[in-house]
Amino acid sequence: MDFTGVLKKIKEDDRYKAAKSVAVQLPEGMKRRIGDITKEFKDKELVFVGDPFWGACDLPQNGNWDLLVQFGHSPIPNLGSFSNVIFEEIQEELDFDIEGAKIPFHSLILTSNVTYSNQLPRIKKKLEDSGIAVTLKKGDSRVFYPGQILGCNISTARGTEENVLFIGEGVFHPLGIALGLPEKRVIAFNPKTGEYLDMEREKRKFLAQRYNAIDIASRAKKFGIIVSTKVGQTRYSLARVASKLLNEAGRISFIITLDLVRDEELLNFPAEVYVNTACPRVTVEDYGTFSRPVISFYELQMALGLKDKSRYIFDEIVMTDEIGSTSFRKRD
Ligand code: SF4
Repeated sequence: MDFTGVLKKIKEDDRYKAAKSVAVQLPEGMKRRIGDITKEFKDKELVFVGDPFWGACDLPQNGNWDLLVQFGHSPIPNLGSFSNVIFEEIQEELDFDIEGAKIPFHSLILTSNVTYSNQLPRIKKKLEDSGIAVTLKKGDSRVFYPGQILGCNISTARGTEENVLFIGEGVFHPLGIALGLPEKRVIAFNPKTGEYLDMEREKRKFLAQRYNAIDIASRAKKFGIIVSTKVGQTRYSLARVASKLLNEAGRISFIITLDLVRDEELLNFPAEVYVNTACPRVTVEDYGTFSRPVISFYELQMALGLKDKSRYIFDEIVMTDEIGSTSFRKRD
């Protein structure tokens, strides 16, 4: 990746030219690049947002700056436009190859995280040349690129095809596909290591943990319902439904708003179980960091006997609450 080239391109943007002050939001892995940014953006009053973030759903709302440059993520279309935000995805130019012979499918749906979305047309052609029928799909209104998977949205993997190939690092995204579409076989290819991972084992391991949490929740009396204050994660309306279902089931519940959802913020609340309506990453990836079980809204429905437990439902986000519908946020 030519990072200096990326920064120079941003400097050509009229929004950058018009801004006096610029805030920069960097994923954890890029925070040590601030030297390059400070050098290139030296004509601006510059501030770096220190809080960790994982997606375009998380745009700091209270900063006193003219422009925010967010690195590492594509916009979320259905959140609307943010005239004072530049999204710079930083897509990978890594020239990796994929061996059709190592993919045990005759046909598949091709997906990736945002980092490799730009390479999917090339990979599609390569796989088709080796005799595999490949489908690249447009997602729903939360997804920017064809084939792009978000940790909270797997719409580009849906369809009648039986198999899905995911390109990218880590198991969070392909695990979402495997959980949300259990009838499909999912293989994840890591372009950095060249490894192919069949998600079946990961899925089984995760489900065992989830059913254990659902079991605990089915016997619990007091529930905390977590609502994110992040602009693209807020599901207050879903939290209200959760609260109603719990009250009808004779349980006690209270709603808690949080920016960063961490155990230390929850420790002093008297809940036995938390229902997470914020990013599904909290329930999936961070589960082991909490001292009490954290479940999704759908897992709550299973725990209360309102949904059939035999078909696990993955927590996906399409629409969040209307921006501006709660007092702590405002739109352009
Ligand atoms: S809610 Fe979570 S998974 Fe979805 S875009 Fe935001 S950080 Fe990513």
